Formats: sequence, C-alpha cells, structure tokens
Amino acid sequence: MIRKMGDTIKTTKGAIAMGAADFCTCTDKACPFHPARHGQGCTPCIAKNLREGEIPSCFFHAIDHPKPTDGWHYEDFAALVQAAKAAGKL
Ligand code: SF4
Repeated sequence: MIRKMGDTIKTTKGAIAMGAADFCTCTDKACPFHPARHGQGCTPCIAKNLREGEIPSCFFHAIDHPKPTDGWHYEDFAALVQAAKAAGKL
C-alpha cells in the first residue's frame, strides 16, 4: 500500500495524518519549512538542512544539554554531542 500526504496512519500514540510531523520539537514556527506551515511533514526542513549543511533542530533538542555554540551546522551538533558526553549525559 502506498500512502500519501493527508492519509491517516495509526501509531502507538494514536492516529496521525501523514505529513503532520506531530513529533517535531522545532520552536521556530515562523520558519517556512516548519511542518505547521504546510502539509509536507519533514521534507522541506530536511531539504533545507541538507542544502545548508545543517542538522534539524529536533536532533539538538533530543539531547538534554545546553547548546555550546550558536549555529545549527554539523560541527555545532558535534560540539553538543561532545559537551553532553563530557557532562555524562550521553
Ligand atoms: S526534521 Fe525538521 S520538521 Fe522534521 S521533526 Fe525535525 S525539526 Fe521538525
């Protein structure tokens, strides 16, 4: 079965619409790529991050440690992982 945007899928947390990305923890709802602003789920965000050499904010938010740098690039994520590891949080 091929699903399309807007189809409802069942998850352990209930039914969600394809493309809704209800799990998104990005707080920048003014961003045109945020799932709340269109019906394409993570696709626009991932495309933008790949284009700019960045990591989506949900990955940063998944680590319980303050960001040690201001950016969202690969090296900023690596710095966060290292800082969290040094603090014993990973
Ligand atoms: S990839 Fe982007 S849109 Fe998808 S959950 Fe992460 S931050 Fe949100």
